[in-house]
Amino acid sequence: MKVKKLIIHHSLTFDGKVVDWTAIRKYHIETNGWADIGYQYGIELVGDKYVVQKGRSEHTPGAHCLGQNDKSIGICVVGNYDLAEPANAALNLLAELCADICRRYRLTSGDIETHHKYAAYKTCPGTRFPMDRLRAKVKQILGV
Ligand SMILES: [Zn+2]
Repeated sequence: MKVKKLIIHHSLTFDGKVVDWTAIRKYHIETNGWADIGYQYGIELVGDKYVVQKGRSEHTPGAHCLGQNDKSIGICVVGNYDLAEPANAALNLLAELCADICRRYRLTSGDIETHHKYAAYKTCPGTRFPMDRLRAKVKQILGV
């Protein structure tokens, strides 16, 4: 797989419920019949700390964005960001993860995109998700 971009998601489901990483994985495997969770990474609050959850291998196309799965890494921030912005701690951890991936695949903050860009009928990763701030943080970490 040739990684050319990162695609950011939130975990809001069709019925408006937010589910955790384990529940998303279970749903993708048991209900959708997929080999594994559709995303490569997740950001989730566990206890009182945000952690990076690992999903599919970076070498395996995900199942998260129609037409982009074989050229992108999908990252899901657990939560509903139509309702509120993600916590700063979540955004900082996401920026660290994105910067690390960008460095390894020689990408820039401009290669971080929303699911919405490819699925206009969805708001994913949420109307309140601060993409500009995420890109600025990544740009700062990368120094380019
Ligand atoms: Zn999405």
